[in-house]
Amino acid sequence: MKALPAPGGIDRPFSHHSSSLPPWLSSRLPGIFKVPKSPILPLSPALPGIIRAYTDGSVFSSAQVGFSVVLADHTGPVATIQRALTPGSTIFQAESLAFFEALRWLDQHGQSYRAGEIYSDSLSVLTSALQAPKTTLTLQECRDTLHKLALPTALFWIPSHVGHHGNERADLLAKEAAQAAQGTFQLIPTTPSRSLVKNLLGSTSRKLWNDEWQVAKTGRSTWNFFPTVGSAAILNKTEISYQLYQLLTGHCKLNSFLHRIKRSLSFNCTLCNSVEDVEHFLFYCTRFSTSRYPFKRAVERKKIVWPPPHADIFRHLSIVKSLNVFVSRSKHLDLVV
Ligand SMILES: [Zn+2]
Repeated sequence: MKALPAPGGIDRPFSHHSSSLPPWLSSRLPGIFKVPKSPILPLSPALPGIIRAYTDGSVFSSAQVGFSVVLADHTGPVATIQRALTPGSTIFQAESLAFFEALRWLDQHGQSYRAGEIYSDSLSVLTSALQAPKTTLTLQECRDTLHKLALPTALFWIPSHVGHHGNERADLLAKEAAQAAQGTFQLIPTTPSRSLVKNLLGSTSRKLWNDEWQVAKTGRSTWNFFPTVGSAAILNKTEISYQLYQLLTGHCKLNSFLHRIKRSLSFNCTLCNSVEDVEHFLFYCTRFSTSRYPFKRAVERKKIVWPPPHADIFRHLSIVKSLNVFVSRSKHLDLVV
């Protein structure tokens, strides 16, 4: 590019289409021109010999990422570029690649024009492309292309969603590219950002863990309380006694379990003459009616019918806390040292 403008001047609004002198002919070129919100910039330049490139990126969740470049000269639209990126790409990568594709198009097809204009609504991409150190490979390529570009080209920071025709069109096509069915566009591979990789790994491993949890043959009494792995997260929000932890696994000092491991002659409750299992202790055993009362009240305050479904207990912190108190106060599950 001839006479690459130095960065700066971003804060100075530049009403380029009201200027008598086209910006690339000005001797005081700032690095990036700011397009005002009004008047609305038409898609096509009025003067022949000028080629405009509007770039935009779009992200729907982290899985659908795309960008577009819309090119127009004084006769109207000349070309469009639409591409999709691999899942996990960022909006910055999409905007950078859009900018790079615009530069590449001007480099390859710009011979028949006198000047080029590139419009991006990403100020960070424009400024990063002009700054030498600490940048991405794509932006390095942008800078290299800017330097070798024969066509005098000016860069514009354009506000989005204010009705500038070229930006609106690029926005629409970028969204279309991002949302297109897989296989419509050949995906551009990118290095996903560290945070996206972390999130993706986290959600994938949680899903695998959860899938295994659903079909596992062991831990079924715990499963009654925590039908999904995620539902157990509430246990981190309050202090839980070892007695309650043991109760949740079913491996606790209740006769149904003690009898199984041959530590008790009967699996029945010594008072009620019915099986002393987790449900009996939690909801029915008359020996604990008094110490259980605050737990029962906490359940009813949440408009849950007594006895509550196991999983409902662990949807509310107030219920978990009162259950923990009940289990501790009953002393029935304490291990004798
Ligand atoms: Zn009992």
